[in-house]
Amino acid sequence: MMALSLNNFRYYAKRYISPSLNLSVRNIACNTFNYNHESHRFTKRQPVFLHKNRQDETGRGSLRGGGSAAWPLANHRTFLTTPLVANTGSASSKTSLLKLSPQNFIDYLKAENIRRLYLVFDPEEKAVKVSHPGLLEELKLFLLKDKVDFDEHEGIFMQLGKRTNCLLGAFIWRTNRGQACGGIRLWDYADMEAYLRDGLRLGQGMGVKSALAGLWAGGGKGVIQEPPSDNHKDPEFRTSLFYDYGEFLSSLNGCYVAAEDVGLNVSDLDNVHMFTRYTTCISEVKGGSGNPSIATGKGVVCAMEGALDYLKMGSLVGKRIAIQGAGNVATVIVEELLQKGVSHIYVTDCHQIRVTDMRNRFYPKYKDILQVEKVEIDDNSVAGYPCDIFSPCALGNVLNADTIPMINAKIVCGAANNQLGCPADNELLKERGISYIVDFLANRMGIVNCANEVYGRLPDDPAITRHFNKEWENSIFNITNKILKKAEDDNITPVEAANEIADKLSRELHPIWPNRSKQIIKSLVDNEWHLKALI
Ligand code: NAD
Repeated sequence: MMALSLNNFRYYAKRYISPSLNLSVRNIACNTFNYNHESHRFTKRQPVFLHKNRQDETGRGSLRGGGSAAWPLANHRTFLTTPLVANTGSASSKTSLLKLSPQNFIDYLKAENIRRLYLVFDPEEKAVKVSHPGLLEELKLFLLKDKVDFDEHEGIFMQLGKRTNCLLGAFIWRTNRGQACGGIRLWDYADMEAYLRDGLRLGQGMGVKSALAGLWAGGGKGVIQEPPSDNHKDPEFRTSLFYDYGEFLSSLNGCYVAAEDVGLNVSDLDNVHMFTRYTTCISEVKGGSGNPSIATGKGVVCAMEGALDYLKMGSLVGKRIAIQGAGNVATVIVEELLQKGVSHIYVTDCHQIRVTDMRNRFYPKYKDILQVEKVEIDDNSVAGYPCDIFSPCALGNVLNADTIPMINAKIVCGAANNQLGCPADNELLKERGISYIVDFLANRMGIVNCANEVYGRLPDDPAITRHFNKEWENSIFNITNKILKKAEDDNITPVEAANEIADKLSRELHPIWPNRSKQIIKSLVDNEWHLKALI
């Protein structure tokens, strides 16, 4: 059996869930961290447990026992006075709604005839309103007490899909800049706390990314709990699932506009689009924006140029670059770097097919400059390659206590999401004098590419290309400069500087539709959205 580190497992589970990988690990507990907008510092998050509801090779089943057994009615009836006894462990184990597996939570909702629920923040009263006081009070208290992931998110809406009974969620962080925008994630969560925390964190993350990109969009994320028995891999079920999500989006009246994220593809978004206008990332034949990798790769190179400029290291001409990953974005980056006259590029990938593809594409002309090597999946030695810029373009959490000490570059700038293992790693980079270009700046073009789909398309669209120039004050080059300068001036890390700038921007009001989404959320509550029969 292939041995996987936690980092690599997380990456592969997200990108390549496939029987051929023969994954045996189903539970990951990862301590991650979150940015606190008041203190502008990171705080430690609770472990997030992710698991696959499948039997592993040992046949023992889920380590947390989070299967799909029906919720025992006798238990939930006593919820108000005693903790729920979940059907996820031994008879003596007591748990709460938060500790229920999402499937058991679904069964609980069904038993209580709840098809829709919401948790909405009231900024005046500094209170959370819940659709079903009493039955769902625990979720409200969880948000109010949480100091890590809940950041006064404007609204959380959930619905059981009409066709599939899947748990569909929309997490809306801050909508000052416009409708909440962000991808839909299809994932298997061990319990409801993990489900909620991921939605909260991802919605906020999209908000700061869009704000820093100058988009008139707020932060949001869709989260769908994977159904049991891998039903989402059945084409008919999958189509129904995304029809369900489309209907859910329509019912939210446009306060959240969806896009693609982990676990979805363009045809899923086309199916969402069958039942709503509130989605992007649909196929090009339907007027969608198509593959974002080209724009993302170009954006990463602009961030590299911005960093070189700030550090007075000149241009890319003659520079040495090391890249982890030879995938879609890395291929664009290599192409750009070759055109800009770098002297050497070293690329590693753990898949021979990716290595071969890249070699076939570039070796005929650039064999003297480019070296592409196949490495083992746990091999992060590329981080130690002597170069000017190290560019992580494969998996997250690659900047950690093991890799940072060996980095041989002044700049780290890549496309991968969540490159930092933890805040301590952020400080470690600073101590080592390495300028880390925050991922949500360098890879912003993924969301930029699809965010304004509805406004139509132009060849060499200036709404896209201005992010690549040096004239627009908000271009990637200029913002990279600005963040590095602020970090130096304030003696903080570039991540802290980026978060401070982004947080401030996220509070600006949309120039034409100020507070529109807040009004929509209020109207949903006032009109008892949660009690409406599903369309
Ligand atoms: P991709 O799947 O095409 O490429 C990733 C590559 O990394 C694969 O070839 C894979 O084999 C390789 N890889 C995985 N683990 C590795 C390891 N340990 N060592 C070496 N190589 C390894 O993905 P992509 O679309 O090119 O995206 C790259 C990264 O950028 C991802 O983290 C993605 O989430 C992020 N990102 C992408 C976009 C986009 O527009 N595609 C936008 C924003 C962020």
